[in-house]
Amino acid sequence: MRHRVVCALVLAIGSAATPDSFAAGTYARDPQQPIDTAYTAKIAEYTTESQFNSPLTNYLPASTSVPTPAKVLGDVSGAPNMLPYTKDIVRYFDLLAQASPRVKVLRIGKSEEGREMIAVAIADEALLAGLKDNDARLAQLADPRSIGLDDAKADALVAQSTPVYYITGTIHSPETGAPTALMELAYRLAVDDAPYIRKIRTHVITLITPVVETDGRDRMVDLYNWHRANPGKTPPPLMYWGHYVAHDNNRDAMGLTLNLSRNVLDTYLGWHAQVLHDLHESVPFLYDNTVGDGPYNAWVDPILVGEWQQLGWDNVQQLTGFGMPGVFAHGDFDTWSPGYLMFMAAMHNGISRLYETFGNSGADTLDRILDPADYARTWYRPNPPLPKVRWSQRNNNNYEQTGLLTALNYFADNDKRFLRNFYLKGKRSIEKPTAAGPAAYVLPVDDAHRDAQRQLLHILQLQHAEVSRSTGPITVQVPAAPEKDDKSDDKSNSGKTDGQGKDGKPKTVARTFAAGGFVVRMDQPYARIADALLDRQFWSPEDPQKHPYDDTAWSFGDLFGTEVVRVADNAILKAPMELLREPVRVQGGVQGSGNIYLIDNHADTALMTLRYALKDADVAVAEKPFDAASRHFGAGTWIVRKVDNATFSTKLNALGLDAYAVAAAPDVAAHRIGAPRIALMHTWLTTQTEGWWRMALDKLGVPYSYISTQTVAREDNLRGRYDVILFAPLDMSDAPGGAGISHLIVNGLPLWGNPMPWKTTAQTPNMNIDQTDDIRPGLGAAGLAHLQRFVEQGGLFLAAGNAARFAIETGLAPGVSVTPPKDLRVVGSVLKGVVADEASPVNFGYGKDIAMYSADGLSFKLSNLLTGDDGLPNAKDYKRPTGRGGPHDVDTPEGRASVEAAELPAPKPWEATPLNADQSQPNVFFPYMVIPQDQRARALVRFADEDELLISGLLSGGSALAEHAAVVDARYGKGHTLLFAINPIWRGETIGSYGLVFNAILNFDHLY
Ligand SMILES: [Zn+2]
Repeated sequence: MRHRVVCALVLAIGSAATPDSFAAGTYARDPQQPIDTAYTAKIAEYTTESQFNSPLTNYLPASTSVPTPAKVLGDVSGAPNMLPYTKDIVRYFDLLAQASPRVKVLRIGKSEEGREMIAVAIADEALLAGLKDNDARLAQLADPRSIGLDDAKADALVAQSTPVYYITGTIHSPETGAPTALMELAYRLAVDDAPYIRKIRTHVITLITPVVETDGRDRMVDLYNWHRANPGKTPPPLMYWGHYVAHDNNRDAMGLTLNLSRNVLDTYLGWHAQVLHDLHESVPFLYDNTVGDGPYNAWVDPILVGEWQQLGWDNVQQLTGFGMPGVFAHGDFDTWSPGYLMFMAAMHNGISRLYETFGNSGADTLDRILDPADYARTWYRPNPPLPKVRWSQRNNNNYEQTGLLTALNYFADNDKRFLRNFYLKGKRSIEKPTAAGPAAYVLPVDDAHRDAQRQLLHILQLQHAEVSRSTGPITVQVPAAPEKDDKSDDKSNSGKTDGQGKDGKPKTVARTFAAGGFVVRMDQPYARIADALLDRQFWSPEDPQKHPYDDTAWSFGDLFGTEVVRVADNAILKAPMELLREPVRVQGGVQGSGNIYLIDNHADTALMTLRYALKDADVAVAEKPFDAASRHFGAGTWIVRKVDNATFSTKLNALGLDAYAVAAAPDVAAHRIGAPRIALMHTWLTTQTEGWWRMALDKLGVPYSYISTQTVAREDNLRGRYDVILFAPLDMSDAPGGAGISHLIVNGLPLWGNPMPWKTTAQTPNMNIDQTDDIRPGLGAAGLAHLQRFVEQGGLFLAAGNAARFAIETGLAPGVSVTPPKDLRVVGSVLKGVVADEASPVNFGYGKDIAMYSADGLSFKLSNLLTGDDGLPNAKDYKRPTGRGGPHDVDTPEGRASVEAAELPAPKPWEATPLNADQSQPNVFFPYMVIPQDQRARALVRFADEDELLISGLLSGGSALAEHAAVVDARYGKGHTLLFAINPIWRGETIGSYGLVFNAILNFDHLY
């Protein structure tokens, strides 16, 4: 049986819906083409009101040979109560391709869990047959150097070429509508003979990836099936979307850490596409956020800004013209961060687009009550959504398809103009050095942080940016370092401040880069992505946009901890260099001879891989600098014994690490480091932000146990199992005026209602990663006691962000409190940290400064008292009383000899106030309030002084954060609680601060 729903259909000509006057114009149907009446009737049945459909999608053309989505779905696209799995969606597109010469399906890669991703090309059969030639022409337009930047040649290519419009669906798993909408859209594009569809087919190659997040899609379908099978019960939230991260998969377009990001980018660039249009669901009824709001990303071509407006507002006009309410553009999404999937196009000379349509997170038909903010009439939303509405998945599919069809129609009408813009944007990228600058970025060959450098260059290459290697020394003018920095040997600032002199003109000095360094030239077609990643960002506190949508900064050179020099001097483009055609590799190996090997510690992530790869090796860490093998080695240098030379060399080479062999161990204080047993603890509240930590450990080959707070509640011998427990930030904030984060972590969710399982069963086969019968219980009193005992018995509990807040609030970090934020504003900024304790192994391999990612400006205050320092006198707050003398004189009482008062302490903001002998005495009522010497917390890294604090992004009210503690080593019994105010492991972008975590893990039993 070929059509389950449609098997009994009678082919009728054009009767189900009479085309209205609009449809009779641009979007008129082919009166000769029969419609699929059964399917068409279902569309009408599942659409809750006719205004939620359009003449474009209120019918389905019939075909005697091409299967409709009903063939696989058993019902029409957008039908209630059913969501297809990834494999069924793929199966439909395969059937479509088998049945229609206008459809081609390509496998574009796999997800982390091995699920197939596809791209489906739809166009006229002649176009598909000539794909190769068309692509060859598009490739030339994509790289105007290939035609010598010759506009006439470009015009000739444009005249012969067809553009590619790439549509991506369901990157966000609870946004469930896109796959069925795209199945039906593909069918329409392949089958419908309406003149406008024929025009689209012959003027545009439509490329579709129906499911971007395939792992998350299947888990979402499981969850929905559980919901259907358990009526009246509350389902768990979608605890895991992709294998590592949830909503943040749409922030990975910079770091490209996820398979889906690389697969989509490679497809987009491999097809030389002009548009990347990503489908989302949240606000009613169709928000075309292509136009977005300011501030716009500072690195996009102004031509793109015009295209955004053009396409966005045309969409609004068309759908409004069909009588569909609630279609708007502009809105409040700022277009600053390039982390979104769609931004792959914006940063590679294409057009980024995004729809938010109205979804019900599943296929239930629901009565929805909108917030006033969603139905309010505004200048950009003159026809707002209805305040109350009965809404179905079919409505959503109608909006998605109608929007896309009108967009494709507009694109087909303007195909040559968009192709010419595509060429022009590429050409303008190549002309960037002369038009706007800079000329290039240089990553010097002598950078000690070559592990981080290699990782950064690798990302640029994944971004398809060209990286060259100099074949001789290069001397160019670079900005002079600001004078106050002259005493510092820190080079991280030297290339990237624009170096304004006192007269306002840039001051430059000559700098020579040794041969073999890396150069990212800006006279290349994909210069914009490299520039956006390597430059710094500034978000003015005065910007009218007060609600940044995401991080305000991401400057990769800073966050990777590797030197990146912005070179404005165009002379560099004539310097000798060769383009690297292979991924950048760093050679490593053993130098010299002997049975003891010394390895520099530059906080390289590769060291962590090496430690676990050579579990049996005897590794010690030097606690002080020393000289050996005619070299100087810093504190933290590894001293390795008992390794097989051949295995060791191979491993070093693979990791790009060097070892210096010596015959005798250096005479330096050292301690041994093992391969500590790590647990990564998650809650059942949210798993997103820890996913980035999990990914970092997996990618580096570091073994760990993945445990939940519920595991900890059951496990009364944590110390017997683990040396280190990591607790990453939670992607949730305290409920205002209500439950704090610690309350939620300890108590979990309220136990009303039903148990909410996250479990692999026959009905929910994809709910893996971790499992529980009920996500509601939290850590509990028992779990907290187990954690306390773990630290007390010598374990390391390492907590970051609001997980650090939890450690403080539950007493695991005596003497530490959270600094009141006052009027501080930080939104995903890059801030400067300063090493406050050079002797701490946590800081091994770091210089004086560390660039740190701060999500919200969290910092810590320390005290030697359990009650905190408030009330302890200090020199800064002391005000002299009324009495004799001037304001700086000492008052002397009359009638007795004056006694000099003890000098008041003047602690720095990151330090605890030192206690005098009297204050150190046990207080008679609260004798335990004084923290013993060996149990006092200390700051290992602090935030920089206020005028140096901001490296990149948004900062205001910085005095509340300046000089406060950023990384704190707190004591609890024999163990340590290490607190991070920053997030050291974030989106694969903060390689430079990973080492703080890894140093702490490896030295967990030698932190003092
Ligand atoms: Zn979304």
